[in-house]
Amino acid sequence: MSAHENTWPNNIARKAVLEFQAYSARGGATNALHLDANESPWAPPPVHSTCGFNRYPEQQPSELRARLADLYGVNSAQIMIGRGADEAIEVLLRTFCESGQDCILVCPPTFGYFATCAAIQGAGVVVAPLRADFSYDGDLMKVKMRQAGPSLKMAFLCSPNNPTGNVVDPKIVEELCVDFPQTLIVIDEAYAEFSAQDSFADRLSEFPNRVVLRTLSKAYALAGVRAGVAIADERIIELMLKVLPPYPIPRPVEQAVMAALTPAAMPVHAARLKLWKSERSRMADALKASPFVNKIYPSEANFLLLDINEDAKLLRALAKYQVKIRDFRKSLPGKMRLSIGRPEENDIALAAFGVEIKPQRPQRIGEAHRKTKETDIAVRVNLDDASGTQINTGIGFYDHMLGSMAKHGGFGLVLTCEGDLEIDTHHTIEDCALALGTALANALGDKSGAGRFGSFIPMDETLAKVAVDLSGRAAMVFKGVFPTDHAGEFPAEMCPHFFESLSQTLGASIHIEVCGDNTHHMIEACFKGLGRALMPAFKREGTDIASTKGVL
Ligand SMILES: *Cc1c(COP(=O)(O)O)cnc(C)c1O
Repeated sequence: MSAHENTWPNNIARKAVLEFQAYSARGGATNALHLDANESPWAPPPVHSTCGFNRYPEQQPSELRARLADLYGVNSAQIMIGRGADEAIEVLLRTFCESGQDCILVCPPTFGYFATCAAIQGAGVVVAPLRADFSYDGDLMKVKMRQAGPSLKMAFLCSPNNPTGNVVDPKIVEELCVDFPQTLIVIDEAYAEFSAQDSFADRLSEFPNRVVLRTLSKAYALAGVRAGVAIADERIIELMLKVLPPYPIPRPVEQAVMAALTPAAMPVHAARLKLWKSERSRMADALKASPFVNKIYPSEANFLLLDINEDAKLLRALAKYQVKIRDFRKSLPGKMRLSIGRPEENDIALAAFGVEIKPQRPQRIGEAHRKTKETDIAVRVNLDDASGTQINTGIGFYDHMLGSMAKHGGFGLVLTCEGDLEIDTHHTIEDCALALGTALANALGDKSGAGRFGSFIPMDETLAKVAVDLSGRAAMVFKGVFPTDHAGEFPAEMCPHFFESLSQTLGASIHIEVCGDNTHHMIEACFKGLGRALMPAFKREGTDIASTKGVL
């Protein structure tokens, strides 16, 4: 961009940041004999011998950086990983705002930490409040930014905004980036996963003064791990990395993030987000009936901002149900923010808000994640919603079999496996069976003692008889001889092995007798037959609905 001469962004950074030599921390530990960082040569007890905890991590762990770059669709060099997006905000202030001299723009009501970091750094805060409907006032922002002049180093926007839940009009962001090339336009996208809006990181190359903040704390369930990123032009990232303290990403953090964001886990995250968003609409709808709620603001995040009346009475009801929500009345008269939880948690919140609902029994959802050197598997089953089945094991025939089983079992199945198919199909088939059994057992909870069921499945010349007992005890008996040793890429011997593995983690005895002339038919009849046998075992019937906890 022509407005950016060679010295940019150095011309807007703090003098001190330019002048000091970056602290030189060692890169990651290699296979060399490391006598260079005064570390312990022994693993800490209890012995995490393979974890490398005795060695300092890389300044920016490269595998993690590559994974996050891929997740956000940018290059590794365009990412700074910090201890949460919070640290990225702090580092931005410390990199660009001269104490007692520079300032930032914020648009309240918004995330409070922008102004807190400015205060810590001794930077000024210029405000361009949101309009009454909480939309961004682009014209006002421009006026304030012009008035502040070159000492205004950054404008902080938040989209979807916390606590109001609305997104910023992309036109405003674009105009600010173009009109103020010497100001960093920072868009905090902590809730982007809950919104339909595209990330502002999509067009980073066109706008070198754009900075996007993302976090793993919200959508990816890693708030306790502390990991978030700043995404920007690599020259900005380079300056920020000078200011970031040495070794900011502990090895267990890297491990936790890598484990939660394996490629196989992504469809499970997507299924959770889908449920989360549908719960957001359900809550927005249901809360209209609350005597405490005047107004529910539309939200593209995982929370709802509410305008409340009879605050004292509501607070008493919330205390009775032991529900905590965020009180914004000090800064926003009458406003409180309610996070969206699991369906059964939301039901409790609705009860506290005085909304009468037909108590719904929590959906029986079970997940299992299994990662070894041979396979990386994530499974999510929903015994009460058969929609959204999505299976990808890398073995077409197996996908088809698992799909038939889920269909005939009447349960929803999201299963992804990245397996060592270059060796053979064995590990993938076996490990998926184990993970599926675990997920089903998790979904069944303590009701697994349930019943015994069986099915007969004819398929042309084939007949399969399948009986299952969810007894908690694993056993598998298989009678049948396959006429060929493969069905497509699927080895016939893996058919009994699948049921054997599944029975172990599901805690079931499975008996199968199959006869026929076609291996494909025979295998398929076994999978379908187990689905059919499981269907009544999974079915929840009757009127004696136990109370959803705490509601009655
Ligand atoms: C939660 C939140 C953050 C903090 O994210 P971490 O990665 O947990 O530090 C940043 N910005 C906004 C708007 C948030 O709501």
